Amino acid sequence: MPDYVVVGSGIVGLATAFHIKLLSPNASVLVIDRFGGPGGGDSARSVAAIRAFFTNRVNLMLAHSSIEYYRQVHERYYDLGMRLVGYLFLTDKRLFELLKDGLREAEKLGLEYRLLDPGYLAEALNMNVKVEGKEEAEMIGVGDIEAGVLVPRAGVIRAERLIEYYYKSARGLGVEFSFGSEVKDLLLAPRRPLGIEGEPFPWQDARVVGVRLADGREVFARKKVIVAAGSWTWRLTSKIGVESFTRPKKRQVFAVKATDGLARTLRAKHLNPHGISPFIILPKKVYMRPVIEEGSFWVGMSDELGRPYEFSEEPDPKADVDFYVKGILPIASLYFPELQQRYPHASWAGYYDISPDKLPVIYEPYESDLVISCGTSGSGIMKADAIGRITAALALGMEEGELFTGERIRVDALGLKNRVSGAEKLVL
Ligand SMILES: Cc1cc2nc3c(=O)[nH]c(=O)nc-3n(C[C@H](O)[C@H](O)[C@H](O)COP(=O)(O)OP(=O)(O)OC[C@H]3O[C@@H](n4cnc5c(N)ncnc54)[C@H](O)[C@@H]3O)c2cc1C
Repeated sequence: MPDYVVVGSGIVGLATAFHIKLLSPNASVLVIDRFGGPGGGDSARSVAAIRAFFTNRVNLMLAHSSIEYYRQVHERYYDLGMRLVGYLFLTDKRLFELLKDGLREAEKLGLEYRLLDPGYLAEALNMNVKVEGKEEAEMIGVGDIEAGVLVPRAGVIRAERLIEYYYKSARGLGVEFSFGSEVKDLLLAPRRPLGIEGEPFPWQDARVVGVRLADGREVFARKKVIVAAGSWTWRLTSKIGVESFTRPKKRQVFAVKATDGLARTLRAKHLNPHGISPFIILPKKVYMRPVIEEGSFWVGMSDELGRPYEFSEEPDPKADVDFYVKGILPIASLYFPELQQRYPHASWAGYYDISPDKLPVIYEPYESDLVISCGTSGSGIMKADAIGRITAALALGMEEGELFTGERIRVDALGLKNRVSGAEKLVL
């Protein structure tokens, strides 16, 4: 019987298992996942952009310390494909207004950004900055680029390398894995069993003691069960009357080859030391993620109103090309007309695991020995190391988690009773 059972070998479950072993080397940890290997959920579907640029102080701490950790891993031990190419918000009047609030908050937190002139951007990115007067721009409700907001402490990482790093490191420390094992139920038992059939009764103090797998086997944990099942967390916990306060929302990505004029965009000079395009965010939250090793952009959009909170297809959601052609392309091609001539050569989809304030949810409900760690709200890759540290500290009964940067954070800061205030304003 392991001390800790972790459900989910996504980036959060992996980082949690790793940090439990670092903090408590003698503890035994078993990670269970329904897929055949680590990261098969949303982690590998991520576009893996990273930014130390958030308006909520705790959110910022999580991202900043995780990125610093990844940076030293990347520079010293393990190639994570990390490139701090920056985030570039290409703002029309409306997006700039929306961003202003966030920028003010960000400034208060001492975050750096640079404002870039549209003329400079047109040249550096080989793009159209003037779209007003075009029928499509009018119809969509977007305007000329007023300014570029370049955030330098940001960029991209390779999600599969990060998954591999945590998986290998956790294994190296003795964490065990059970793949191809779907958890169907969380098992409850009374703290003081009486040996009467039907326990636990409503008046008995109960705790979560383990999990039941789809094949009927039961796996017990001596100390805690940690559910880090990403978007699927609420499915498991709601069965025993525990809220994860998160719901899944579909997100889609389309890979487009950056040839000809778009190659000039991808190889944009002077915007960062790498000579690569930053991660670009256009009006209406259309984004273009540079993928230099593939010579392409991954293009997506964080649409909000209208898409339901639900799993559309299981276990492998698919991107809908119509969403690209009718939803993304009309906006993106206004600013980057070269996109008009290219059809995506690949596409995929996953889910954001969204919490109401867009902060992670980490807590132990009803002192049940169940720890929940989810709610990454579309930014779990960039915060996973810190989330893993806090979840591990909570599972081990510590009061505070220590981040890589040395800052300490209460383990209940992302729980319910003492949750930090202030919804995140810079969500993509
Ligand atoms: C299209 C897209 C783009 C994104 N872009 C970014 C980005 O640019 N930057 C960023 O930081 N983040 C991004 N994200 C978000 C990021 O991918 C997630 O925040 C992160 O991967 C969440 O990690 P996780 O470990 O919580 O979940 P997951 O990686 O989904 O892991 C959960 C694991 O639990 C397992 N599981 C679930 N239920 C069960 C069960 N019943 N039994 C056994 N196993 C189970 C699953 O198989 C899965 O492996 C993006 C996400 C998507 C979908």
